[in-house]
Amino acid sequence: MLDVLRRIIQEVNGARSLEAALATMVRRIRKAMRTDVCSVYLFDAERDCLVLMDTLGLRTQAVGQVSMPLGEGLVGLVGQREEPLNLEDAPSHPYFRYFAETGEERFSSFLGVPIIHQRRMLGVLVVQQQAMRRFDEGEEAFLITMAAQLAGVLAHAMATGTLTRPTQADGQAMFSGVAASPGMAVGELVVLMPPADLNSVPDLIPTDIEAEITRLHEAIANVRQEIGVAAARLVKRISAQEVALFDAYQQMLGDAALGQEVEKRIREGQWAPGALADVVKRHVQYLERVDDNYLRERAADIRDLGRRVLAHLQEDSPRTPDTFPEQTILIGDELSAASLGEVPRDKLVGLVSIRGSSTSHVAILARAMGIPTVLGMVDLPLPRLNGARAILDGHRGRLFVRPDAEREHHYETLIAEEKALSEVLEHEQDRPSETSDGYYMPLMVNTGLAVEAVASLKSRVSGVGLYRTEVPFMMNERFPSEQEQTRLYRDQLESFAPLPVVMRTLDIGGDKDLPYFPIDEANPFLGWRGIRVTLDHPEVLMVQLRAMLRASVGLDNLCILLPMISSIEEVDTALKLIDRAQRELIEEGVKLARPQVGVMIEVPGTLYQLDALAARVDFFSVGSNDLTQYLLAVDRNNPRVASLYDACHPAVLGALSHLASESRRLQVPASVCGELAGDPAGALLLMGMGFEALSMNAPSLSRVRAAIRRVSLADTRTLLDETLALPTTAAVRAHLRQRMGEWKLAHLLPPDD
Ligand code: PEP
Ligand code: MG
Repeated sequence: MLDVLRRIIQEVNGARSLEAALATMVRRIRKAMRTDVCSVYLFDAERDCLVLMDTLGLRTQAVGQVSMPLGEGLVGLVGQREEPLNLEDAPSHPYFRYFAETGEERFSSFLGVPIIHQRRMLGVLVVQQQAMRRFDEGEEAFLITMAAQLAGVLAHAMATGTLTRPTQADGQAMFSGVAASPGMAVGELVVLMPPADLNSVPDLIPTDIEAEITRLHEAIANVRQEIGVAAARLVKRISAQEVALFDAYQQMLGDAALGQEVEKRIREGQWAPGALADVVKRHVQYLERVDDNYLRERAADIRDLGRRVLAHLQEDSPRTPDTFPEQTILIGDELSAASLGEVPRDKLVGLVSIRGSSTSHVAILARAMGIPTVLGMVDLPLPRLNGARAILDGHRGRLFVRPDAEREHHYETLIAEEKALSEVLEHEQDRPSETSDGYYMPLMVNTGLAVEAVASLKSRVSGVGLYRTEVPFMMNERFPSEQEQTRLYRDQLESFAPLPVVMRTLDIGGDKDLPYFPIDEANPFLGWRGIRVTLDHPEVLMVQLRAMLRASVGLDNLCILLPMISSIEEVDTALKLIDRAQRELIEEGVKLARPQVGVMIEVPGTLYQLDALAARVDFFSVGSNDLTQYLLAVDRNNPRVASLYDACHPAVLGALSHLASESRRLQVPASVCGELAGDPAGALLLMGMGFEALSMNAPSLSRVRAAIRRVSLADTRTLLDETLALPTTAAVRAHLRQRMGEWKLAHLLPPDD
């Protein structure tokens, strides 16, 4: 059964239009369940009714004609209750309604299940049988499973342009993901296709067999030409034996070989990419089983050739820098930092990626470059978006595809306002971050990239509150050497001296992977992460500590920060290693001052060990990003639960407030370096709590500074007291917005919905 289910989902997924998807769905389900009828109804929210969209078994003339309001008829009842309905004798049910157009009276048994996606009822799936019998438990379970699986596919099919809702012919759609870099953009979507993958080609029935065959032969001809060019380029550098391999490739691609077989498969009723994938996979499977090394290696060749042909079959005309639209929103399965380089900077207005997280390399770069970015848009139907007009909202993690003129105009206005605001705030950037009653709130900056150590920043901040050392590690192809690290760290320390620079030891794991040190775990955020990794690899940590210490010679503005601390033993071991690194360097004749050492407070358990921590370290730095995810058990990078992830959750605010007062009692300076510190309203709350410094990404500085300069310290304390009394995140956010409005600071917050 699982196999049937997978196959149906795959086919529906691969369909090119909503009609095709629905037709596949009813045909396959009817066959799998051996019923007389299978129909699908979709919910039309505007008319508040369910419309028959496809059927096999009822009269096809009824499609699009029969509709029933929620709560009327059996289908309407299923839609309203959002529960399955399984009847042996449907016509005797009080809700039964007769539609002459369908010829329905002939069917006795009825099984209807709702199609629900993320709490929203999208439609109803129905099977019917002439004979009076009750569908058994297994059949009911099958249809429920089918509907749950199809819900995701349908939701996005309906949300995209080519696949439209019953009354939504203009194809508007909204997708949500994880906001990774703030800002908004209006532009044209350009899809960067992932490398061709023979395993993810869906089965599709071709509409025009001859056209598919022509497409195939063109693709093969292109690959043959590419191989010819590659062989000519290499002929002087490779052996005759290797040159012969290129001839073998040409033969494999010859009409008598692969081409002919794929053509035959197309004629049997498979589209060109599917036919190619079938044939290549069959050959590869066969060759891999053969007991002959030479032939087994040929399996890899065939797979590679297959991928190349597939790439040509899938490609639209490749882009060059001049052919990118003026306002490009780049969109891809997994955008890499390198893919940013493909679009000229002045044309790149936004980034969207199906995979990737807010701490990925591409997100860090995007924030540094000020490009609005949304990642983790897991359900985007990439192939159908190329060339579509879109609005990207990097504040809220949303993408509107083919927006209507009104929404586009609304966003154009917001973008113009943001631009004007940045220009106004820029004038204030060199003023102190001081409240109206003279309280000075030190603002610091989070860095990681070399470009972020810009001279203009130094006069505007009180130092670097978080230098994420994993960023330069991510840019490398191996662990950077002690010398390389010393140079990097020296640059940072020098750029900001005499201001303090808080350097965090390598914080990898979770979602931050190094390409040369992959960590593959079922539960990476609860796994080998941060200090846990570096204490297990003292050789890596020692090199880093030595490099930091060496880099600080004569500057003495280094502070060392330990990430992901969850136990006192970790602190003790790390402190011993810091002492050892220092001793070694002093023995080597390097003159060193002991740096301040602090821990990140981001694992909730540390909140209960503050006394023991305070006895060991010089400062606390609160990672509100991780503290939020661990306190609330909400993955900070999972778009499905993105609406639950908010550092303004009352529990998080309560924990932060407790931490601030405990730190005061313990006389340990505490600052915040998570995203909450860069949110103007969040910054005011943290100030009210009594944190001693706020560290944020450079683009957030101007808004936070502007907010601080327009309130008094007493205001922030009142705001905090009021906020801490509220029971929900929504109430907190609404209250913050209201107060910010009263203080004429609403313009500093991201635009409201
Ligand atoms: C945090 O967790 O809040 C933090 C600043 O660290 P990172 O975002 O790098 O995990
Ligand atoms: Mg963290």
